[in-house]
Amino acid sequence: PAATASAATSPESYPTTHEQISKPLDTQNFIDNQFVASQATQWIDLHDPATNNLVTRVPQSTDAELKAAVESAQKAFPAWKAQSVFARQQVMFKYVALIRQHWDRLAASITLEQGKTFADAKGDVLRGLQVAETACGITTQIPGEVLEVAKDMETRSYREPLGVVAAICPFNFPAMIPLWSIPIATVTGNTIIVKPSERDPGAMMILAELAEKAGFPPGVVNVIHGSAKTVDFILDEPLIKAVSFVGSNKAGEYIYQRASANGKRVQANLGAKNHALVSPDCNKNHALNAIAGAAFGAAGQRCMALSTVVMVGETKDWVGEIAERANALKMDGGFEEGSDLGPVISPQAKERIEGLIASAEEEGATIMLDGRGKKPEKYPNGNWVGPTLIANVKPHMRCYTEEIFGPVLVCVNVDTIDEAIDLINANEYGNGVAIFTRSGSTATRFQREIEAGQVGINVPIPVPLPMFSFTGNKKSVAGGGANTFYGKPGLAFYTQAKTVTSLWRAEDAVATKASVNMPT
Ligand code: NAD
Repeated sequence: PAATASAATSPESYPTTHEQISKPLDTQNFIDNQFVASQATQWIDLHDPATNNLVTRVPQSTDAELKAAVESAQKAFPAWKAQSVFARQQVMFKYVALIRQHWDRLAASITLEQGKTFADAKGDVLRGLQVAETACGITTQIPGEVLEVAKDMETRSYREPLGVVAAICPFNFPAMIPLWSIPIATVTGNTIIVKPSERDPGAMMILAELAEKAGFPPGVVNVIHGSAKTVDFILDEPLIKAVSFVGSNKAGEYIYQRASANGKRVQANLGAKNHALVSPDCNKNHALNAIAGAAFGAAGQRCMALSTVVMVGETKDWVGEIAERANALKMDGGFEEGSDLGPVISPQAKERIEGLIASAEEEGATIMLDGRGKKPEKYPNGNWVGPTLIANVKPHMRCYTEEIFGPVLVCVNVDTIDEAIDLINANEYGNGVAIFTRSGSTATRFQREIEAGQVGINVPIPVPLPMFSFTGNKKSVAGGGANTFYGKPGLAFYTQAKTVTSLWRAEDAVATKASVNMPT
């Protein structure tokens, strides 16, 4: 394809600064391996969160474009399914190599559109790339089973693709989350339609360009754009058999229900409120660094951000030291050398986060470190909220009950490990949790009694690598979390089982009368 997706995705060069782009280009649809200009009448302006300069305009893809993407994916499916698993594996090898080759370019697009630092954006790409790398092992992951169930009779099981599937993605990991779906869905023989976040689709557009270069046939990977209207199209389109969603509870619970009611498979990862339990016997220096890094990295805009710390006993006196470490982090444009955290995604997000800090103040918590009103000198127009630490928080306060999704750490004090476990288990979310302790028995008890689905022991962000699965639970997933992302459950999600029972008897049948009873 000759055309490019946006100014951020030009194949020859990519931005490495937050300088104003001289002439923003419109983001395009990607259908049938072609970048196509949208005929949209509605456009969504996308601004660099560090400057609020216009980067690109994202279309609300038209009905005809959405339909064309589905038709393309449906048309591509039979031949793609019929390819040997080795042929699909070869495409995945090339895709992996290309993503690695374009790693910096992908990361730069993320820094420009999402705001996270370039170093952190490289991690965003890598976590997705690792899913693609793992998918290259498909030949040993997908074999079925066979059993001789009676004399001359055997049953075999196969895993077959579903058809056209769709992924609806959030803004906070513009490369990783599309890559939670694309490699596994396609290597198993499905065709996929991706709707990236309308707030930062640039990385997905580069991934689409690389998909074409890797040898995916036209229609195997398509990209459409827009907000709720595009989502509703996906949820109601009968040709789409499965929907992968990652994002907020508000959107996700609706999407889960509507897609399920329409008979689709759905996997849906939602919001979070992740706690760290700090035990007095922990390695203090490690715990303080780990907590500050996991609370404020990516400006707290990670579903696994450590946003709540439960300080047991005397550790409540450590909040000042966490605040010092938080204060030492450098907030700056993501392309700047030494920047530790960038801006938040939008002026609305900044306002919401600052509102939650204000509510904590009004409800009687102590603002130990206040990020409101802070901004780096070079970027006065960005959506800045500095690291903020709120102490003496009580569980009824809004800053505790709501997902803040910004660089804000709330600290709750308890007297015992028992109280800490009860408090954490009483929280309705169950994405991630961490304990900091030197005691093996405390850690063992914690891992057994804690309900959250991803547990770190002296590890602040325990996201499992792709050979495992992303196992958040409770309100952090829809539908009880039956369909988790990547790993073995990810393979199961994108395939359906078929069993074949066959009889190959050497001698002729001896009976002359038909048997009508179930064999016993
Ligand atoms: P979001 O729900 O606003 O958007 C996600 C997607 O849903 C986007 O593509 C958007 O266009 C669409 N959408 C938004 N509102 C919609 C509506 N009313 N109807 C239909 N579609 C709608 O989420 P976000 O702000 O982009 O991402 C942040 C959220 O995602 C946080 O809550 C975070 O915890 C969560 N998240 C969860 C995980 C996880 O694995 N559990 C990972 C990353 C992010």
